[in-house]
Amino acid sequence: MSVLDLARDEIRSLKAYSSARMEANGGQVLLNANESAWECVSGAGAGCNRYPQPQPEELVARLARVYGVRPEQLLVGRGSDEAIDLLMRGFCRAGQDAVLIQPPTFGMYEVSARVQGAAVIEVPLTADFHVDVDAVLAAMTPSVKLVFVCSPNNPTGQRVARSTIERLLAGMAGRALLVVDEAYIDFGDEGSAAALLDEYEHLAVLRTLSKAWALAGARIGCLLAHPDVIALLRRILPPYPLPSPCVDVALLALSGWGRANVLSRVALVREQREYMKEALAGVAGVREVLPSQANFLAVRFDDAGLAHQNLLAAGIVVRDVRRYPGLEDALRITIGTADENARVLDVLRSTFA
Ligand SMILES: *Cc1c(COP(=O)(O)O)cnc(C)c1O
Repeated sequence: MSVLDLARDEIRSLKAYSSARMEANGGQVLLNANESAWECVSGAGAGCNRYPQPQPEELVARLARVYGVRPEQLLVGRGSDEAIDLLMRGFCRAGQDAVLIQPPTFGMYEVSARVQGAAVIEVPLTADFHVDVDAVLAAMTPSVKLVFVCSPNNPTGQRVARSTIERLLAGMAGRALLVVDEAYIDFGDEGSAAALLDEYEHLAVLRTLSKAWALAGARIGCLLAHPDVIALLRRILPPYPLPSPCVDVALLALSGWGRANVLSRVALVREQREYMKEALAGVAGVREVLPSQANFLAVRFDDAGLAHQNLLAAGIVVRDVRRYPGLEDALRITIGTADENARVLDVLRSTFA
């Protein structure tokens, strides 16, 4: 049994598009890709007259180092949203296969599944928002190809323990791929599940530069998985997914200087998160602040609608998460600058004074 046995046959046998940039090997005169020989505006967007590398070597190498994996275990795409979509398309046959998710959780798993025509099986988190391993394993049918676990979970903020992930992996070997979404892991204390990749071929981990790395606009996200899974999904990744200016800014972020910057910002966010957790808990009208290992807090209110409305009136936009099961009285508030956080507190204190 190989993990590829879980993938769609038509993708396994697909002859991938071979782009000019994949076939080109060195050379100084590039006349194989019908590009312009001139820059668009001289001096601006340097190099943009050429197609980018499909998987830029230096970017892959640096990301692999940061995430503690080998380059062949990593695929870079346009945000982890693209990695989620590739997994759906690589593993789920429309009208036949299913994915398993655990609400309340990140909305893109369900949207991507529906776009692909995959069924969505829901196994809710427990009342205190932990993964119910026995319930997940009991709900696994032969049609389930992907199981999504979000750690720390969006929108609740709690992480999933390594022991939970290992129990899930043990229970679904040969049956489905476990996808651990670690979009917020840089803000927490837990190490990455990527450390388990060499042990479990049916594990996939999602990472992104959109949150702690402050590059949401550059759209750089990664899938970490078994080299066979990476090779399979490269076949359905468009030929040139990564715009050159985005690659350049990501390389800057991943430099020694860039990484030091990220570490100090993460420390600031963690400090502000603890400060906001205490301060919000002391505001009349706040019922509960959920524990968080991410860069946001899920906050329960006596009247979340009123809190949301008054924050909006003050020009502060937070996420209304009342549509999620178990969060009918909650808002999700991202940790901002100390000044922004103070403004949130001011509005809420006067709302419930
Ligand atoms: C923000 C977020 C992502 C998407 O990140 P991109 O890399 O920007 O596509 C993925 N998963 C979760 C849980 C998120 O909150």
